[in-house]
Amino acid sequence: TTTVAVFTRDLRVHDNPMLAAAVLGADAVVPLFVRDSRISGTDFAAGRRKFLNESLTDLDASLRDLGGRLVVRDGDPVREVCRVAREVCADRVHIAGDVSAFAMAREEALRSALTCEFVVHDDVHTVVPPGAVTPSGSDHFSVFSPYHRRWAATSWRAEAPKPRRVTLPAIRAAAVLSAKRNDFPGGETAARHRVTEWVRSSAESYADNHDALPKDGTSRLSPYLHLGCVSALEVARRAEKSAEFVRQLAWRDFHHQVLAARPAAAHTDYRPRGDRWLDDEDALSAWQAGETGIPIVDAGMRQLLAEGWMHNRARLIVGSFLTKTLYLDWRAGAAHFFRHLLDGDVANNCMNWQWVAGTGTDTRPNRVLNPLRQAERFDPDGEYVRRHVPELSGVDGRHVHRPWEKPVTGYPSPIVDLAEGRARFLAARG
Ligand code: FAD
Repeated sequence: TTTVAVFTRDLRVHDNPMLAAAVLGADAVVPLFVRDSRISGTDFAAGRRKFLNESLTDLDASLRDLGGRLVVRDGDPVREVCRVAREVCADRVHIAGDVSAFAMAREEALRSALTCEFVVHDDVHTVVPPGAVTPSGSDHFSVFSPYHRRWAATSWRAEAPKPRRVTLPAIRAAAVLSAKRNDFPGGETAARHRVTEWVRSSAESYADNHDALPKDGTSRLSPYLHLGCVSALEVARRAEKSAEFVRQLAWRDFHHQVLAARPAAAHTDYRPRGDRWLDDEDALSAWQAGETGIPIVDAGMRQLLAEGWMHNRARLIVGSFLTKTLYLDWRAGAAHFFRHLLDGDVANNCMNWQWVAGTGTDTRPNRVLNPLRQAERFDPDGEYVRRHVPELSGVDGRHVHRPWEKPVTGYPSPIVDLAEGRARFLAARG
């Protein structure tokens, strides 16, 4: 038999149930990736495209070690997958199931267009597949704590074996991949290296350090988990001793199961609140550029632009600031994040934004984070701010969080009065 293994955001050879199934018992396999410009075209910042290319290059290298290679085609994925399947007379096409409306529509289109067998694997992206645990009377959990209790009591699937060999059928030469290495290198090799380092050196102190902004106490695995350069299940197993860390992976699964059950939650409020967001282009631009005059907010936003990644605590602070203090629509925030984040992910991004905006699954939707109190608690010496906001690098100690008390040349004054912003939000929410 001949099969086609369609890679999407599962760019790995270790613990990839989709690839393992495609290889099992097949005489020949086409590992295929279709570059779809609707996903990774100009809407992506350069860093995101680079990370994807590096991950593809690395996957290609791993497949070559196994005797095959990655076949890359550009264009509409449905048309290209059908074309490849016809070209090699495939008996079966395998793909990982995914939770965004876009991915679900692609899957449906493939199901009707393909003339061979089509197998969808729902256990590739998460530790526990969406829909595997449900409350009575609903198809998904809306609140994290009961979800997490059931999640923690679920037995996890066995890891999928890495293929011993990948034999390609005769197929037209593919687009050439080339990518340069950088500080945040894409790909399975880098991901596995990072997991090993993380489990060895830092996972144990995660509970103490994960909220400290200057410490770098989190794994920075999110870009790799997003593109599936490493399996979430494998990471959860290897880091099992750090319960707090494994709990974060349960959050990831939680958001996936919400989106799987309610794909429209990517763009409509999960819990409609009848809000009318303000329309203020200047405030939005200042927030995007990290020029709001509130140092802790600006530090987070500039970290995003510089690194394509932002600390979770900073994401919470800048998200609350945008949607509550400035009272701007969370979708504008989500779109900006999606463009720049290497881990930008429909499930995690949109559902976290909904949570922060109080339109999602947060059980305390009217909570407004005070950026100053957050700054003094999670960046007590101002190290994180000084690292990311060079205009403030010469300001000592805690004063760095309140530059308006002694203005600093070249740094803007605040675009909003924090107390007024908070009062406006609470009044609007009633
Ligand atoms: P660690 O703390 O080391 O956690 C390990 C892994 O657990 C992460 O890699 C991630 O896969 C998962 N995780 C951790 N926190 C969360 C969470 N709150 N929700 C879901 N999964 C979580 N994460 C994304 O992967 N993609 C996004 O697009 C994204 N957008 C976000 C937007 C907002 C407004 C907020 C508040 C959070 C967002 N997050 C997103 C969640 C979280 O901030 C990142 O996953 C985390 O900062 C990644 O860093 P890390 O790998 O070092 O995390």
